[in-house]
Amino acid sequence: MPEVKVLSKRFDMDNGHTLQGYLDSGGFAALRTALDTAPADLIAQVKDSGLRGRGGAGFPTGMKWGFVPQDLGKPIYLVINADEGEPGTFKDRELMERDPFLLLEGMLISGRALNCHRSFIFLRGEYLWPGVRLEEAIAEAYANGWLGKDILGSGFDFDVTLHYAAGAYICGEETALLDALEGRRGQPRLRPPFPAVAGLYACPTVVNNVETIATVPSIIANGTDWFRSMGTEKSPGPKLFCVSGEVVRPGNYEWPMGTPARTIVEESCGGMLPGRTLKFWAPGGSSTPLLTADHLDIGMDFDAIAAAGSLLGTGAMMMYSDRTSVVDAVLNWTRFYEHESCGKCTPCREGVFWLAQVLQRISDGQGRMEDLQVLDDVCDNIFGRSFCALGDGATSPIKASLQYFRDEYVHLIEHGRVPDGFEPHAGVVTQNSGHHRPPSLAVVGRS
Ligand code: SF4
Repeated sequence: MPEVKVLSKRFDMDNGHTLQGYLDSGGFAALRTALDTAPADLIAQVKDSGLRGRGGAGFPTGMKWGFVPQDLGKPIYLVINADEGEPGTFKDRELMERDPFLLLEGMLISGRALNCHRSFIFLRGEYLWPGVRLEEAIAEAYANGWLGKDILGSGFDFDVTLHYAAGAYICGEETALLDALEGRRGQPRLRPPFPAVAGLYACPTVVNNVETIATVPSIIANGTDWFRSMGTEKSPGPKLFCVSGEVVRPGNYEWPMGTPARTIVEESCGGMLPGRTLKFWAPGGSSTPLLTADHLDIGMDFDAIAAAGSLLGTGAMMMYSDRTSVVDAVLNWTRFYEHESCGKCTPCREGVFWLAQVLQRISDGQGRMEDLQVLDDVCDNIFGRSFCALGDGATSPIKASLQYFRDEYVHLIEHGRVPDGFEPHAGVVTQNSGHHRPPSLAVVGRS
């Protein structure tokens, strides 16, 4: 199938972020349908669609909603995970900037399905411009009766609170996010209990990613058969892929799940930069095991990428050429994880620090051949032994780089420098900073 425009439908509109632009382009039609549909039927539709979470884990969304007990006599909360911090990932940022009402409509429908009347958007603190767009959209929605009491005379009440996070990668983990939202230091919680039963303020809570919830209106408006007509049987629907690195046109591109990576890179991004050939890539952000040029024909869906030994993650494809030192790229990411380790468990807190030291030594030309075994051993003592997925994710690029590019490590250790023709640090993508600030920020008084 060709590139699609479902989530990215309003990306090219000048006024797609305004209420008028949203309504003029078919916005809120799905909400009208949802308000006339029983909550259990809405959950059934999302279950039948096969929608899987777009935040990285790929858990079935409808099943997650089905875990929420409706009989505890407590409020039910919906929390949107907009703390997009995975290096290389910028899909939710563009969605919130260009189509904030799509997220709000998805939240309203999800709230209706869950019998939830209070929701939160946990927004990455550095995302100032998406925050401005969301603030404007929320204010406009309240002013025009799309949020608040008795929406469209249906008797359904729904409130949204936008919360700016303080800036920690770990708060993208749903239980750390909930701790931070409650005002505590963000660290992962022991599970069970799971958030569906005891989440925010110990009440039943659904935490979903921005893109996941923004996909819901299209399912309610067009039906599950339409949704399943795209993608694969186990990974249906469209998906935003954010491509960065050494390609001609980096950016967000929407394709059906299962589209080969080569198609996305060549047709949407114009291929690698002139004179460069692909050497390695991460399919879903820096915490997913690296793949090589030999994997470029694999479909971008949860199962195909897993079968190739990696993870779809957020769909953040980071592309590196033959001019890039894989050791430098991996060191860059490991420094990030070292900085972002929350310190709760020893394998990650100490181990990722050690990994960074050893990688730095090798990168500086001071490495020893036994360092390769040290890297392997430390990774093995972190993977599967850490409290949350951050520890596992920190080891992924290291293990994969040792698997595919061991010769490059050996060359660096033996010669004290990268092979000829490399540009150390060339094309290395640092953390998606989200620091671009349009002039209009001054107008609304944010600093
Ligand atoms: Fe914190 Fe790392 Fe342990 Fe996760 S794995 S709880 S981030 S120290």
